[in-house]
Amino acid sequence: MNKGTVFIISGPSGSGKDTILKEVLKKRTDIYFSISSITRDMREGEVEGEKYHFISRKEFEEGLANEAFLEYNKYLENYYGTPKAPIDENLALGNDVLIECDVNGAAKIREKMPEVVSVFIMPPSFEVLKKRLSGRGTESAEQIEGRLNAALNEIARANEYDYIVVNDALETAVSDFLLVMKSQRFKLNNQKQLINEVLKNA
Ligand code: 5GP
Repeated sequence: MNKGTVFIISGPSGSGKDTILKEVLKKRTDIYFSISSITRDMREGEVEGEKYHFISRKEFEEGLANEAFLEYNKYLENYYGTPKAPIDENLALGNDVLIECDVNGAAKIREKMPEVVSVFIMPPSFEVLKKRLSGRGTESAEQIEGRLNAALNEIARANEYDYIVVNDALETAVSDFLLVMKSQRFKLNNQKQLINEVLKNA
């Protein structure tokens, strides 16, 4: 059995990454989506175990001591970490794994797993990003400016990724992302076993 592939999806606020992620997971129900362990309070509408495991600081620090995380980061006063064990288990079973994280998390994972396939979700233009971020109408001009700056910093690091998927029309972005995932199956590294089997049975 071939080992599964690890995919990373990143993208700035306003890129539509979360919507793409949801659609991709609906279509690829065989994939394991990595649920991060985090110490911040649950927000309204969030469900334990859906995107995050909400754990205590003590539990997180125990996890750190036991090297339970593939990578982690501290945002403001909260920890965010990618649990390692479920990823290893799923890969061994031949399942593909999808991790959602920021550019820093992606860089740390690449160091440990150079074979990871990383995809950056890109807005079609700066103007569109600006419109999407100000279109929500829930934030002050200052907050929008802050998000826009953070987004630009992330986009500046998009060249660390293997693939760039532009999210102009959602449906196209979702099928492009699925295509990137599917294409990995045809890589020589993922087909060596098949070659051996064909030769063995000749
Ligand atoms: P939020 O609190 O808004 O859900 O997430 C804040 C930030 O944490 C986002 O940029 C999100 O991508 C990032 N994040 C979520 N899970 C992880 C994780 O496991 N590791 C790292 N490094 N970042 C994460």
